[in-house]
Amino acid sequence: MKRQWYYRGSLKSCNYSCSYCPFSKKKGSLREEQNDKAAFFRFVENACDGEMVQGAVQIVPYGEALIHSYYWEGLARLSCNAHLDAVGAQSNFSFPVKQMLSCFKGQGGDIDKLRLWGTFHPEMTSLEAFVEQCRQLTKQKISYCVGVVGVPEYISIIRKLRHALFDSVYLWVNKMDGLGRAYTMSEKKVFLEIDPYFEMELSHHKSDETLCMDHRFVEADGTMRHCNLTRQTIGNFYYNNAPDKTMVCGRKECSCYLSYCNRKEVVPGSFLPYPAFRIPAGFDWHSRYY
Ligand code: SF4
Repeated sequence: MKRQWYYRGSLKSCNYSCSYCPFSKKKGSLREEQNDKAAFFRFVENACDGEMVQGAVQIVPYGEALIHSYYWEGLARLSCNAHLDAVGAQSNFSFPVKQMLSCFKGQGGDIDKLRLWGTFHPEMTSLEAFVEQCRQLTKQKISYCVGVVGVPEYISIIRKLRHALFDSVYLWVNKMDGLGRAYTMSEKKVFLEIDPYFEMELSHHKSDETLCMDHRFVEADGTMRHCNLTRQTIGNFYYNNAPDKTMVCGRKECSCYLSYCNRKEVVPGSFLPYPAFRIPAGFDWHSRYY
């Protein structure tokens, strides 16, 4: 069965130091990196063995994974799996594009299947540097989306980012947790001009386990859940990989994009068949909105 798979390894380190993030500038030890690499390769090997894993795999790391070449090697191997239509990862887009793509291609990776998700952190990198990374990816014909947290103080730079990107690149805006107030009408208007789908972020999506039953979120030790938010486990990827029990997830809301993106009444059809990558087909920001 084709479905959306997610993988999160044991990596908990990052080259950025965002003030709100627990993995901020945390340097991983060599041992931690080796463990993470071994766990990821184990996942890749099992995912490419047999027909259990079909559809799409997205890496959703804590910290930054794509600065490590082993993630590109693993993604390349996954992309060679005929049962997988798409493979990708979330990133801060700080990786050396040429070097990592050559690693991906060197391992036989299929560029057509690659889907990247890049978050812009205005306090960590310049607009110019981030846009240059995006340009290089476009030049290499990589499918990707970029996004930002909707911090009102950053409106000016987010606007500039929108105008600097190619119109075909979707720039999403996540609602800011911890803002402590609702967005003003004018802030909302600006974010809606930048991200035509921003309303999805502002809505409340009541949790509904029947809508995420097909999804598999796999952790480094094989623990499986239906999404990144719930603590409820449904089995283990390596020992009990065909869970069919219903479960109560314990969450009131599917409160982040990865948890609500499978809702057809919320997320437009252009995001299908794998909305988790957040890349709407045929997107053209300029012609539709300006
Ligand atoms: S929070 Fe996660 S497990 Fe719970 S219903 Fe939403 S997607 Fe499913």
